Amino acid sequence: MSKKSIGKRLSDFFLAPPEIDLEDLKELIGEDDPVLIKVPTISCTHKPRAWIDRNAFFRTILMLTTKRVLILKNSSRVNVLRDIELDTITNHKFASTKNKGLKLEIKTVDAEDVIMFHQQYKKEFEELSRKFEEVMKTTLELSIEERETFFCMYCGVKIPAASVFCSSCGKKVR
Ligand SMILES: [Zn+2]
Repeated sequence: MSKKSIGKRLSDFFLAPPEIDLEDLKELIGEDDPVLIKVPTISCTHKPRAWIDRNAFFRTILMLTTKRVLILKNSSRVNVLRDIELDTITNHKFASTKNKGLKLEIKTVDAEDVIMFHQQYKKEFEELSRKFEEVMKTTLELSIEERETFFCMYCGVKIPAASVFCSSCGKKVR
């Protein structure tokens, strides 16, 4: 029997990040969407527009990839509790305060997620914040590019607005 107090054992339990099976993950997110960072959370409160579906998940892992934010839990296999695509995010905010802890708020058109982190992971939280800003910037640029396209009048393939020649059929489009 360990000499650790119950309080200490409980806090170890809550601080130990749940493990994630990487093979399971590859299946979930595919090879073309690398994981940028993983940070253990205290909780994730999911508030959809329909408040009745409000839900809270505890002791999860937040994973940031190049395309999405995942809230995961590892039980017998990886469980995806939240899958937020970066291009659906309308607003986000990182907040770090002494008494209120480390908090990330993510707003999408139909929901809001509030994710709390333990002070122990302050360094990871800060790294997450940096990577998040970077990847959101890329996502925004990509979606602008995506919007600025048109269809080739000869072959119908979608091409960037700045094109002079169609990348598919090679005909001059302007
Ligand atoms: Zn064409």
